[in-house]
Amino acid sequence: MSKSALVCGAGGFIGSHLVKRLKKEGYWVRGVDLKYPEFSKTAADEFLILDLREQPNCEKTVRPLNGRPFDEVYQLAADMGGMGFIQTAECEIMRNSALINIHMTNAAAAAEVKRYLFSSSACVYRDMKPEEPELSEEEAYPAFPDNEYGWEKLYAERMAMAYGRRFGMVVRIARFQNTYGPEGTWQGGREKAPAAFCRKVAEAEDGGEIEAWGDGQAMRAYTYIDDLLDGIRLLMQSDLEDGVNIGRREYVSVDELARTVAEVAGKRIRIKHIPGPVGVSARNFRVDRISSLGWTSKISLKEGISRTYPWIKAQVEAKKK
Ligand code: NAD
Repeated sequence: MSKSALVCGAGGFIGSHLVKRLKKEGYWVRGVDLKYPEFSKTAADEFLILDLREQPNCEKTVRPLNGRPFDEVYQLAADMGGMGFIQTAECEIMRNSALINIHMTNAAAAAEVKRYLFSSSACVYRDMKPEEPELSEEEAYPAFPDNEYGWEKLYAERMAMAYGRRFGMVVRIARFQNTYGPEGTWQGGREKAPAAFCRKVAEAEDGGEIEAWGDGQAMRAYTYIDDLLDGIRLLMQSDLEDGVNIGRREYVSVDELARTVAEVAGKRIRIKHIPGPVGVSARNFRVDRISSLGWTSKISLKEGISRTYPWIKAQVEAKKK
């Protein structure tokens, strides 16, 4: 009998890609979300449209299949977006994502789910200076996340681990670095920097100008979706407890990200810096724990943007028609 997996947030960017990966690996997959994936048909065997802020919906979602509890649950549902969204929707993030995690963790433990992976974030770490050494997982404490999204993630991590201790459910905590790729949100206010720059460059003329929030010097690392999925799958099967960072160690400034997009697009672009939400000045963290499982990032920023830009350009062109 094939293994079963439940993907919460299967209508979203990472969730819809994860469903495809699990299907390729031979799993029976149930997806759940408020909506179907926006850009391609779901690969899930069954897809439920449910609001996971409600406890009865979480119970329905993890209901065992023919009396067999789910082998694996991936909890990726969250009220989520880029820095603009994180700074303007802090109450919605705190309330909606906390409710989802409180009810899902409880429902999964009650349904005797075997393995439960929670998607946390690099936002659990404090602000850093660009020249500081990378932070290890333990350095999330003493806690001082820069935004409420990070505080909610820390709470949800602790909630999942407490349930793991009490109920014997194997809990895995993945802290994702900023992740991008085709079929991610690219417009509407929830998009993250790589998608936003791909859209702006696709819309700009050769020799034109794009806007970037802040002074362009904030340092970040970006992980291509396929690398992240490799990490998620390895972590789920592993015996690594507590938080585990997953992210590529290729640090670039916001301006370098924009220039990489322009280079891939083959356009000469000027960057105009305007006031806007930037977030922390730097984000670098160690990946020794996930690397100990044999994980390595295979896709450089330039390669990942080369795979993402054409997809966003096609969306921009389709919208104009
Ligand atoms: P996404 O917004 O594309 O996907 C999240 C999905 O959750 C959406 O489809 C949304 O409809 C769904 N959702 C929201 N509220 C819901 C509810 N009440 N009931 C059911 N479904 C609901 O985001 P993503 O980029 O795919 O992120 C997935 C997970 O990874 C999130 O937990 C996010 O915080 C985490 N994460 C993502 C990144 C990144 O760079 N993409 C970085 C760090 C952490």
